[in-house]
Amino acid sequence: MKVTKITETALRDGHQSLLATRLRTRDLVPIAEELDKIGFFSIEAWGGATFDTCIRYLNEDPWERLRSLKEKITQTPLQMLLRGQNLVGYKHYSDDVVTKFVEKSYENGVDVFRIFDALNDVKNMEQSIKVAKAQGAHVQGTISYTVSPAHSLDTFIDLAKELESLECDSIAIKDMAGLINPSTTYELVSRLKEETDLLVDLHCHCTSGMTPISYYAACQAGVDILDTAISPLAWGTSQPPTESIVAALQGTEYDTKLNLKLLNHIKKYFDDIREKYSSLIDPITEKVDTDVLIYQIPGGMLSNLISQLKEQNALDRYQDVLDEMPRVRKDMGYPPLVTPTSQIVGIQAVMNVLGGERYKTVSNEVKEYMKGSYGTPPAPLNQNVVKKIIGNEKPIGVRPADLIEPKYEKYKKEAEEKGLVKKDEDILTYSLYPSVATKFLKGEAEEEELIESRTDMSDSDGAIPTEYNVEVDGDVFEVRIMPTGFLDVKETDKGPFTPVEGGISSSMQGMVIKVKVNVGDKVRKGSTVAVIEAMKMENDIQSDVEGVVKEIYVEPGDAVKAGDTLMVIA
Ligand code: MN
Repeated sequence: MKVTKITETALRDGHQSLLATRLRTRDLVPIAEELDKIGFFSIEAWGGATFDTCIRYLNEDPWERLRSLKEKITQTPLQMLLRGQNLVGYKHYSDDVVTKFVEKSYENGVDVFRIFDALNDVKNMEQSIKVAKAQGAHVQGTISYTVSPAHSLDTFIDLAKELESLECDSIAIKDMAGLINPSTTYELVSRLKEETDLLVDLHCHCTSGMTPISYYAACQAGVDILDTAISPLAWGTSQPPTESIVAALQGTEYDTKLNLKLLNHIKKYFDDIREKYSSLIDPITEKVDTDVLIYQIPGGMLSNLISQLKEQNALDRYQDVLDEMPRVRKDMGYPPLVTPTSQIVGIQAVMNVLGGERYKTVSNEVKEYMKGSYGTPPAPLNQNVVKKIIGNEKPIGVRPADLIEPKYEKYKKEAEEKGLVKKDEDILTYSLYPSVATKFLKGEAEEEELIESRTDMSDSDGAIPTEYNVEVDGDVFEVRIMPTGFLDVKETDKGPFTPVEGGISSSMQGMVIKVKVNVGDKVRKGSTVAVIEAMKMENDIQSDVEGVVKEIYVEPGDAVKAGDTLMVIA
């Protein structure tokens, strides 16, 4: 009799979905041995947003987390989520960085690599698949499931066959927003089982409310593995509860054969963890959100926008943003909405609505996307929008990483010169996140306090809102939108600024990563003078005047708020 296998996600997706990816290693390790005894197919414990969160907010080394879990989890394969050529970051890395990263991940304890690409473009997955296979790992290719005029069962089956030809061991249906309904699940799983030799894994979030029914339909169609999270970290924007699925299938031909009593012991541990981290739980992520059936925005990103708009008494913009998201998605060729495309589309929709004119402000990511640097979208791009954003530049037309020079040695040298390298893995941490990693590896990062007081903005006087919190994979980013040319008077560590004619101000809160001009330089209107990283994206700050740079107030590494004057051009 066939046994349905379970991948437990509490240590990665469970807390990424419900607790902003904030669980500390010291809260994961004590339960690791118990988890190891259950008999899961795998324990997902690394990758996704955990890497970034460790160095950005927790002052923790993600590699040490992996090793300490591996010490305790000796029977069950450890699984990670890898964003193809994006690894655990938000842009494509060079092949040599991808190779080293996958090798080191395997060496430090990853047994199962779930590899996906936001556009389902196999060109972006092939390098990491090849390297993971060469290590002897179990490689799970991924279908990022979505619904659009450009997607059908046939397109997903073709993708699975391509992944099989790259020697993947299994295939995951990754349903980020719980969009897959039971009948589609049945058909898709049945066809995957008939037309490929791959093990089939279903990974859904409960957002839409349909997921447990779809899981049962998947069993009827012969699914091999179901992803679940222990109940205190389940439901809402997370996976279905492990114990419930185990109990539901008990005694049927789909039995998991897992022990409910042992699971209950683990559940009690996570009850306490959930209590400890309760200040991070947004009640909205726990609710069924049927809007997702229409707007397809995953994992609480939309819900968070709603709550922010509500707090600011500005729900009048909510519908505008909701309506804009599918338009942006269509313009961009119907990408599945998952990191990083969910952020790119979501933030562009907010910019389009609040900026007053569509695509007046675009992030570098959107520019690159329109050039094809993220890969081939499922459907053609809107050429009018492409023209507005990149003019007559030609799309790249090749595998994006083919245009990226090897960079590992360069990063190695840089990191060594800065005195950041104690072990090889530090070079990779630096390669992926040069700004954040520098602070972390220097020992200057601090662990974020667990109890966060949320800023109360409910005393808004009903004026047009200029501040939005946008949730990206569980991390909330503050976005402020300022009218062009508006100069704010703010005290910063550079001293108080007064509004100056020709002052160039930051349009968002973020970190200065490049200053592209020097005092005395002549600049033209529209030329890029600085680059600010915000919401994990690089945004060009352009001069809206022509003139000579008189003064520069910021340098790379400085944190700036929306409206801060960066420099004066006269
Ligand atoms: Mn997920």
